Amino acid sequence: MNDGTSAGQLNPPFDDIPPHWDIIIVGGGITGAGIFREAVRAGFRAILLEEFDFSWGTSSRSSKLVHGGLRYLREGKFFLTKASVEERQRLLREAPGLVEPLGFLLPLYEGRHPGRTILTAGLSLYDMMGSGKKHRFLEREEFITLMPHLRREGLTGGFSFYDAQVDDARLVLRLISEAVQNGGWAVNYTPVRALLRDDMNRVTGVACESTEDGTTGELRAPVVINATGCRAEELHPSPERHRHLRPLRGSHIVLPSWTLPLPQAITFMHPQDGRPIFVIPWEGTILVGTTDLDHHDDLGKEPTMSPGEAAYLMEGLADCFPVLSLRLDQTLCSFAGVRPVVSEGNRPPSEESRDHVIWTDNGLVTVTGGKLTTFRRLAWDAMKEAFRFIPGGGSIDRESPIFEPVRTVPRGGSLRDAAVRRLFGRYGRKAAVLLEQASQDDLETLLGTNVLWIEVVEGAREGIRRLDDLLLRRVRLGLLRADGGIELLDDIEKRCGPSMKWDRRRWKEERKRYREILELSYGVPGRAPRPEAVKEGFLEKGIGRIRKVLRPGRQRS
Ligand SMILES: Cc1cc2nc3c(=O)[nH]c(=O)nc-3n(C[C@H](O)[C@H](O)[C@H](O)COP(=O)(O)OP(=O)(O)OC[C@H]3O[C@@H](n4cnc5c(N)ncnc54)[C@H](O)[C@@H]3O)c2cc1C
Repeated sequence: MNDGTSAGQLNPPFDDIPPHWDIIIVGGGITGAGIFREAVRAGFRAILLEEFDFSWGTSSRSSKLVHGGLRYLREGKFFLTKASVEERQRLLREAPGLVEPLGFLLPLYEGRHPGRTILTAGLSLYDMMGSGKKHRFLEREEFITLMPHLRREGLTGGFSFYDAQVDDARLVLRLISEAVQNGGWAVNYTPVRALLRDDMNRVTGVACESTEDGTTGELRAPVVINATGCRAEELHPSPERHRHLRPLRGSHIVLPSWTLPLPQAITFMHPQDGRPIFVIPWEGTILVGTTDLDHHDDLGKEPTMSPGEAAYLMEGLADCFPVLSLRLDQTLCSFAGVRPVVSEGNRPPSEESRDHVIWTDNGLVTVTGGKLTTFRRLAWDAMKEAFRFIPGGGSIDRESPIFEPVRTVPRGGSLRDAAVRRLFGRYGRKAAVLLEQASQDDLETLLGTNVLWIEVVEGAREGIRRLDDLLLRRVRLGLLRADGGIELLDDIEKRCGPSMKWDRRRWKEERKRYREILELSYGVPGRAPRPEAVKEGFLEKGIGRIRKVLRPGRQRS
């Protein structure tokens, strides 16, 4: 057992990992991280293994909402909505600075569904499940005052209501980091290649590999929890003949906030298919999403938005905000994620259930489906099953806060209270140390973002192995700046170099790899490449080829 008094390890050398554990958790997304946190809190010796980086999968590619989901209410999923709303309220209380309230507007148009009566009923129920009356009906003129750029034709008024938002990757990181501080071990870039079984076919551990150096090894535990999201059936084929994982892709485009001034988020129905679209202010940008379609690509590769999805989201924006004439070339980037949806048949993607499932098989517990918002519920359900295989069982603490409570200490000086709150939300108690040690320079924000330099510097110490771990997940520069942070790379190298210990060649390779990832998986189909990409040599090869083609012609003349 782990008594919680000695700290665990983040990315220890592979050979230092002890061979025996109480619980092995496979998958470092929100589901695995939530289970890891609960397992360590319950006193178990737990290890978390992730194939790529922590939160590399769907958990860094969500709409970043901590929400009940009005949609689920419409589908009669009262329990899912109630659980989600309760979790939202708890996270708002327990993780200020990381999970923050978000006001929404919802316009109503003549002849469009759902109408005022249905929405009044739905939003009243939503309020009752949460924290009393929060929604309000706004008359047409008031609505227009709040959203002057909105399409006015047919507008009859609308609602305002509340949900919450988060930095999804940082939520995963905070769970992992606090579990490690309390004795858990977490290792990224270490895929589980196979399950180990005994003569009775009981699962006894995993065979894994460090992709950093190719070292392989076996780890043993009486229970293995499979939290590999949309890839869960690779380790545990569905025991239900008619229910299987159906990977459904959802994509977003990101716009700079000046293109679409928003006092708060807005949700509206897409004119093509009546699906709800979210337009959300996030970290100084605007997120627009999402799509919902079958994803047939390799699940071990970064998903990518298709041209059709980009066109669909732009069509939605044009319908909602016609006067702004928004264009694809104004976008900063796109990102795509794959929903782990357990499907019973051939329903349209958006009608598939977002409930989670638990499958148990002789020492293997698989948990998949669900939402970011309800990660704690998934963790409780998975742990309850896991206890069946652990000698002596265990108990879950459902009452204590998920994160160690922190008291925000104002820094004074030029640092705004919001920035201090942000640091405590993302780093918990560690924020006090960061603030104490930070130089004035570290407390500057990176141009065009809310990100402080201290977050980049600290990110470099948070178990990163690649440059994209730092710039896409520890901080989100890849999504927030038009250049994906490329213009800052010299400065980043200077400030983070001492903790990363990469030589010149490695930095060069990492920069190249990062640019390629940005271009391949975070570009916007149909938009010209970022000017920085051209400057940094992305198109050099292509231009080189064009020159070669042109040269013989010139020589002839
Ligand atoms: C577009 C979109 C928008 C969404 N928006 C919201 C939202 O606003 N709010 C909300 O509550 N929910 C939202 N969701 C749902 C939510 O994001 C997902 O339910 C959640 O992130 C799934 O987390 P997970 O940990 O189960 O999976 P993942 O985050 O995918 O994590 C699984 C991890 O397992 C790893 N892995 C796989 N195989 C192995 C192996 N063999 N060995 C080791 N590691 C392995 C993967 O690399 C991956 O990192 C959204 C989903 C999508 C797609």
